[in-house]
Formats: sequence, structure tokens, C-alpha cells
Amino acid sequence: MPRDRFAERRQKLVAGLKATEVEAMLVTNVTNVTYLTGFSGDSSFLLIGRRLAILISDGRYEIQLGDECPELETYIRPPSEKIENAAGNVLTSTKLKKVGIEADEVTVAQLAKFQELVPAAEFVSLEGHVEKLRQVKDAVELKEIREAIRQAEKAFAVMRANLRGDQTERQVAHDLEHTMRAFGAKGASFTPIVGVGARAALPHGRPTGVRISDADFVLVDWGSEATSGYKSDLTRVLVTGRLSPKLEKVYRLVLEAQRAGIAALRPGAKCCDVDAVARKVITDAGYGKHFNHGLGHGIGLDIHEGPRLSATSQTELQPGMIVTVEPGVYLPDWGGVRIEDDVLITADGPEVLTSVPKSWEEALVVV
Ligand code: ZN
Ligand code: ZN
Repeated sequence: MPRDRFAERRQKLVAGLKATEVEAMLVTNVTNVTYLTGFSGDSSFLLIGRRLAILISDGRYEIQLGDECPELETYIRPPSEKIENAAGNVLTSTKLKKVGIEADEVTVAQLAKFQELVPAAEFVSLEGHVEKLRQVKDAVELKEIREAIRQAEKAFAVMRANLRGDQTERQVAHDLEHTMRAFGAKGASFTPIVGVGARAALPHGRPTGVRISDADFVLVDWGSEATSGYKSDLTRVLVTGRLSPKLEKVYRLVLEAQRAGIAALRPGAKCCDVDAVARKVITDAGYGKHFNHGLGHGIGLDIHEGPRLSATSQTELQPGMIVTVEPGVYLPDWGGVRIEDDVLITADGPEVLTSVPKSWEEALVVV
């Protein structure tokens, strides 16, 4: 796809701003700046309006800006000038009267600074304008997410084949990160979660010195970040020890809930309804209170982005959205099972992008 896909995104954003009465928006969220410009550096703001698009950056990035977004007007601040002051200078020179700012991003101190530097302008809090655009992926983004999935899956296959009882959670996490890089990743999309036994009940546990052989199963939640910045996110549980009927029951239940959730993904479906479909499977089996998080989330340049598959989200799914589907059941002092795949919404329904085996039989591994 040509470079003008960034210009197209900026046009869409500006079109959406019409309803807000702001003349321009100061984009300060670094991921949003990247999304709108293709610039992959940080410490930069984008001022965008109907007749202007100015990237406010610094001298370290001059060459990179010429490579990544040569069509954009830039303001390069000197080392003596803080980015807020640079933004103040640009805003003053543009004589804008109403400027949108990202309510979730600008700090109280930054807003006070902007108001002090540009007293003639009114700053209006805006929420979710760029994030809303980011929910629907274009063909290039889909390709990049597929690449991040491929890297994660290859690394998992290597890890699974080499899994030993004396490895610690930390070693497994480290090996996964290392192998993803060997397969071309920029890095892990987040520090892999490797939870042995009872530790698998912590949805966001950090890897420790506990060994694979210390319990009968291990939960691994991992993902890769491709060099483009796009991310993948998967979870699997591997049974490394004794087969218990309880583990099999919980595993099969979570898998059933996940399959039901995936099947409910189609254009026009409300996120809260998809969450409810999967949750009902777990609740009907008596484990409802042990599924203590939303069903899934969008992935892209951020590991967690819109849309959220949660009980409170009224967002309607659209073709091009990519979400995780990751129900879980967590029992204190015993452990937890979560199964997570990345799924593209197409006009015809769900397309599961991830392909790591997940049947109960395929969860069994000899270490
Ligand atoms: Zn995950
Ligand atoms: Zn996730």
C-alpha cells in the first residue's frame, strides 16, 4: 500500500473532528502519532487540522523524519527547548483558537503549561478519536499482525519442543523472547507470562524461579512485536505432569467457552454480547466468578487497544477489527486455565489468525 495511507488516516481524523468544533488537535500519544504519520520515533507531537499537519520533533530525528514521512511539515526544536514549549510556539504561530487535546494522555502539568504559553487558545478535551480509527486494520496492518503471530508461534514451537522439568518460569520466558527475536521480532510484545501450577491463577503474574516440574501444568501467555511495531498475543496451557480429571474438566470448559466466543464474532455483533456468550458457558458450569476479566481486546500497535470484548462495551464489531478471545478460569491455590487466540472479523465472520494447537490432547507434553 502506498505511503498515502497515513494521509488517508489524517483525513479521516480531521473529518471526525468536525463534530467537535475544534479547529485542530494536538496529538501527544506516541502510538497515535506513529499511526497518523508513519514516524516510528518518540518524543514527538502532531498538530493536525483541516489545513495543517505539523510534526513537532527534535534534531535526533531529522534524518529519520525525512525517510519516514518526507511529505509532512516539521518543527524541529533545539535541544534547549522542551517539547511543550515547542508545541506552544507552533500553536502561537498558527493562531488557532480552539485546540483539541487527548484527555487520556495530557498531564495536568502539561495542560497548565499549554494554557500559560498560548493564552489565546482554548484547549478542549477529546477522547478516543485516533483510537477509534485504529480499531479497524488495513491490509498492511493485517500483514504485520500476521507476521507478529508467525514469530510468536515459531518461538512457542521451539520452546515446547525443548521444555524440561528443571527449567524455571523465568528461563522459559527468556527463551521465548530470545527465540522470537531470532525469528525476526523486534522483541516480545510484553514480558511473557509463564505460570506454573497455582501461579497460573494470576492472570498477570511475573515469571519467577519456580520450576516446570513443581506442578502438573504451566500457563504461557506471550506475543511478539514485529519490527513495524504491530503485536500478537496468545495463551496456551501445557500439561507437563500428572493428568488430573479436574484439570481436564477446566481445560475443556475454557476451550468450549473460547470456541463459543469466537463463533459469536461477526460484523454488527456488540462486544458485550460476545463476552456474554463465552461467559455463559463458564457460568453455566458453575465457574462464573472464577472468570474475572473481559473476554478479549483489540491488538495492533498497542498490546491492549479497542475494541474491548467486555461486559460494558457497546461497540459493534466491524470487518477489519482484530481481537483476542481469551476466557479463563482461575482457582486460588490450584491454578488457572486461559486459552487465547487472535481473531480477524471479516464480512463472513471470524477468521482465527493464530494456529497453535489447543485441543486437550495437544496440550499434553512430555518434559
Ligand atoms: Zn495474552
Ligand atoms: Zn490478551
